[in-house]
Amino acid sequence: MSVELKFPEVRNYISGHFVDSPSKKLDVVSPLDGTLLSTVPISGVDTLDQAVSAAVKAFPSWSSTPIKERVQIIFNYRNLLQKYRAELTELITLENGKIKSEAEAEIDKAIELCEFAVSLPQLIPGEILEVSKGVDCKTERIPLGVVASITPFNFPCMVPNWTIPNVLTLGNCMILKPSESVPLTANRIAEILTEAGLPDGVFNVVHGAQEIVEGICDHPDIKAVSFVGSTKVAKIVYKRATGNLKRCLALGGAKNHLIVLPDAQLEMTASNITASMSGCAGQRCMAASAMVGVGEIDHIIAKVCEEAKKIIPGKNLGSVISKAAKERIEKYITEAEQAGAKVLVDGRNVTVPGSEGGFYVGPTIIDFVTPDMAIAKEEVFGPVLAIMRTKTLDEAIEIENRSTYGNAAAVFTQSGGIAKYVTEKASAGMIGVNIGVPVPREPFSFGGWNESRFGSGDITGKSSIEFWTQMKKTTIKWNPEARTNWMS
Ligand code: NAD
Repeated sequence: MSVELKFPEVRNYISGHFVDSPSKKLDVVSPLDGTLLSTVPISGVDTLDQAVSAAVKAFPSWSSTPIKERVQIIFNYRNLLQKYRAELTELITLENGKIKSEAEAEIDKAIELCEFAVSLPQLIPGEILEVSKGVDCKTERIPLGVVASITPFNFPCMVPNWTIPNVLTLGNCMILKPSESVPLTANRIAEILTEAGLPDGVFNVVHGAQEIVEGICDHPDIKAVSFVGSTKVAKIVYKRATGNLKRCLALGGAKNHLIVLPDAQLEMTASNITASMSGCAGQRCMAASAMVGVGEIDHIIAKVCEEAKKIIPGKNLGSVISKAAKERIEKYITEAEQAGAKVLVDGRNVTVPGSEGGFYVGPTIIDFVTPDMAIAKEEVFGPVLAIMRTKTLDEAIEIENRSTYGNAAAVFTQSGGIAKYVTEKASAGMIGVNIGVPVPREPFSFGGWNESRFGSGDITGKSSIEFWTQMKKTTIKWNPEARTNWMS
């Protein structure tokens, strides 16, 4: 018996069109209620070859289009993201499971990323200097060619747009390999780019899994690869792409620590911590996952629990991505409890009336976690806060520093001196002072440290200019009368 799909079968987008896609497919299931949305093709390297050929063909014309003209297309794209905000919001909520306001926020962030990209003509002019009599040296930023971006499930619109506007504005052509869990938003983005005026072949979407990712790392015509996803896969991609002598920037998972001092402002701290651990159902690489309380912080924990109880699955808390994710998260909670931690707010076994097939985990606060427990060390990626307690600030910093990850860390205190000390000592790329989700906004760049990022530089902001271009240095002499010297 065939089951009706809510959306047509997902197809690959190559050279400005949806193309016939391989018969090997996976179901795209809405985590909100378990309904079948569509199917996604699990493409092979032959499809990747087609997409890369289209991009290679488009590159000479696109890269020689003046940047001020390329920017006009990104400007149109930005306006179309605004125009289609409601439609994109629906797609994101359906395929990812996050709530409406969270989906809207990631579209707004994509718009902000476009706004940064349209400022690139102001940021990338080269330099020119007369270096000898009659001899000028000039530098300019040149696009790389065809590049690829591999993205995770948790931000179907924002993470692809960490790369799309900058990559295209800087004159590259691109292959996007979205997560197979959230292919619908990616395809809509492709259509919107074409509507914005992007020439065929400049942006292509190839759906699939491991084979396509490996094919991207191996493809001789792909010059650079960005990856965002788990640390396990980030390592594979980084090794394989750089092993093939490509540029690679691979962002991995996270375990973000919030260090909380007893003097922290109570209401602001509790609401901030709760929002950080539960936003997007805890499926953010910037989510608060571990809280380290220094000294007497019972009053703050009590307030965090009070706030957490106001978070209702299906209302102001979305679902997690899959049944497997729900089971994994609940296992972490149960194992911590069995090892002696105390579950203060329990989000296990929740169901949402009317959406019984959905994959929900309620907000969960666990106290008396010890640093050796799996829940204290590993990425849980669910709405779960593991609380550890220390007597001194240095012990708390030591716990943060011991993490293999290094995406974000935060400190909550009213003392400037303590905040400065933690800011200096924390081993993470993005630090919050009384901010639970310290995502830098444009033009500041996004990127972690340690096993949260492989490669150099950050994925957004000015740092990305370096990654997506190469510097050409030209030395010029026109006047034969100019004095002859060693450079002539
Ligand atoms: P994932 O690593 O499972 O998948 C990411 C991408 O890799 C997907 O496109 C997937 O198809 C592909 N992939 C999966 N397994 C592969 C394999 N064995 N070989 C080659 N490719 C493979 O990640 P996810 O579950 O989609 O996303 C969640 C993870 O992403 C979390 O760890 C989260 O912290 C991380 N993340 C990190 C950042 C950051 O900025 N550091 C941002 C968002 C998400």
